[in-house]
Amino acid sequence: MSNIDKGGGGREADTTMRARAAEQTLAHALAHTRERELDCDELLLHVADYLDSGIDDEELEELVEQHLSICPDCREAVEILRRALGRTE
Ligand SMILES: [Zn+2]
Repeated sequence: MSNIDKGGGGREADTTMRARAAEQTLAHALAHTRERELDCDELLLHVADYLDSGIDDEELEELVEQHLSICPDCREAVEILRRALGRTE
């Protein structure tokens, strides 16, 4: 059995509904401000570079990190790849 469960945490309690609504409004506005947004397929195209030498395109790298911060599935995929590549940080 393997226990590779590093909690990580970072989940904050929702104190007020208002704060949450405001946050969503802001996220919505930001989403529309950005010209480009990655979906999971696109992200996976860049993951190898991201893990290897880093992405040349600064904006693209930011998009990758942004996607990873909101997409647990891709984060898991990156973790698996990272281990497969023998890169541990
Ligand atoms: Zn994703």
